[in-house]
Amino acid sequence: CGIVGIVADPDIIGNVAPILVQGLKRLEYRGYDSAGFALIECSSNKLLIFKDKGRIDKVVEEYSVHKYCAVCGIAHTRWATHGEPNTVNAHPHVDCRNEIAVVHNGIIKNFAELRQLLEERGHKFKSETDTEVIAHLLEEYLENGDSMWEAFKKLVKVIEGAYAIAVVYAYEPNRIYFARKVSPLVIGLGEGFNMIASDIPSMLQYTKRFVALNDGEYGYIEPYRLYLEKSGTPVEWHHRVMTVTWS
Ligand code: GLU
Repeated sequence: CGIVGIVADPDIIGNVAPILVQGLKRLEYRGYDSAGFALIECSSNKLLIFKDKGRIDKVVEEYSVHKYCAVCGIAHTRWATHGEPNTVNAHPHVDCRNEIAVVHNGIIKNFAELRQLLEERGHKFKSETDTEVIAHLLEEYLENGDSMWEAFKKLVKVIEGAYAIAVVYAYEPNRIYFARKVSPLVIGLGEGFNMIASDIPSMLQYTKRFVALNDGEYGYIEPYRLYLEKSGTPVEWHHRVMTVTWS
């Protein structure tokens, strides 16, 4: 299973969709049963979700993912732990309004309690996954007046378990939020774009500069910025940049 995401300045990269497809295919070796994409479409800023069980190529063809133009997106290969491999359980998962998309590797241990609380508050769940609580929890915080960043920080405090998470929000097409605990996640630093993925090889075609996230770190990337925090404190990361010479 794996995650890849990219956010770009449209003057530098006109369309990130092919990069997501390539990046995800490089993660195939990790094994998976389903694949999916969340794209924020270029001119409309609409959140587009393409996902199904089966091979990456099949999903890409099924939805003609190459037809679409996006400035920002995340992609996922799933190795099911909660809920059988099928279209609905494939990632990304979205909130009720289809504005927040989440991909996740790992397990949210306390998802059942969270799901019950959210259902009592009127959230309608579509899948059987542990992951879907993330989208609804963020939506709930936003409805209570938080910004997405505030909501994301609360989320990280509330969820328990092992996770690599990436989130996009239709109203913030220039940001990808992420968090890492146990499951691996690496930032790829570009010029006019930034990436995130489960490993370095999936990004090597596009950049050679990386920051491996430590356990408990979370933050966001924008085309020209990486912001990192741990336990509410900003993390200085510049001295951690690794330049890879192999390809
Ligand atoms: N627990 C999640 C699910 O079953 C994520 C599995 C994974 O790591 O791909 O959907």
